[in-house]
Amino acid sequence: MSAALWLDALARRFPELLDELAPSPGRAPAGPRGPRPTGGGSSPVRLFVSDTLRDITDGVAELEEAVRERLALRPVRPAPVPVRLRRIAGVLDRIDADADLAAHVEDEARRMARRCAHALGDPEQMIRLPGRCRGCSSVSLRAFPERDEVRCVNPVCDRPPVQDAGADTGADTGTDARTDAREAA
Ligand SMILES: [Zn+2]
Repeated sequence: MSAALWLDALARRFPELLDELAPSPGRAPAGPRGPRPTGGGSSPVRLFVSDTLRDITDGVAELEEAVRERLALRPVRPAPVPVRLRRIAGVLDRIDADADLAAHVEDEARRMARRCAHALGDPEQMIRLPGRCRGCSSVSLRAFPERDEVRCVNPVCDRPPVQDAGADTGADTGTDARTDAREAA
């Protein structure tokens, strides 16, 4: 369920990474300090973005290969990241039937969605979810990759965050659930 969410988030945000790296028309090329084979600047931000791009590209390729192998599907030809993500999403029902695989896909998709959001400078990416909150029936469910949390953002709704992300895998970075008052909501 939430694997679909992260896959979708990643597919939507990934092109923005490419945009970040595209040379902006208004900016002069890197300057006369000798040839720059890559054409782009080498600011830390750009390096981080291109690093992320590579990480996600490799990660998605590996993920798709792992999925297809595990599901005994024939290999497919390489494709751009969004296409691969769509293909993975297309077999999610089969993935879900395999608990280990489902957990792996979800972890990886979430990790990459989070990394993508970071590289794009979003401290807290919020993703609109389809469907209605079971508490207040409004279309106000949002996912927060940073906090690995799905919750209703309707201010008059007191439904606690939806624990939708599966069991604690222990792999998450030190997000101490008690660091702030969010639980008191
Ligand atoms: Zn609600």
